[in-house]
Amino acid sequence: MQNTTNTIAPTCKSCGKPLRGRADKKYCDDYCRATGNNKQNAEKNNTVRNINNLLLKNRRILAMLLPATESTTKIHYDKLHEKGFAFKYFTNTHLTKNGNTYHYVYDYGFRLLENNWYLIVHNNEK
Ligand SMILES: [Zn+2]
Repeated sequence: MQNTTNTIAPTCKSCGKPLRGRADKKYCDDYCRATGNNKQNAEKNNTVRNINNLLLKNRRILAMLLPATESTTKIHYDKLHEKGFAFKYFTNTHLTKNGNTYHYVYDYGFRLLENNWYLIVHNNEK
């Protein structure tokens, strides 16, 4: 008789040991389950922390490039890129009556102008 079953024995998601018992088991015991859940939560927290750090870095870059005495300034893409600005991370967008979209990083906004120049604005109003 030929053996046509080719299943890989399920292993514990935490310690990697082969699992026995119910087919839908993921962990060997409560200890492994707790360890596994903690690890998953830690990874989620890491993702959130990494994105928060990128947002804070973006804000720092905009704050640094916009002089405190000005409410707007123009910065070239190359300068933002050189500083490590992460263009796809922002907190909200704002569409003006004129049809311009600003991307905000907290209280600082940026908008693409022509030829890869960006307008940087600071919104003090709260
Ligand atoms: Zn285990």
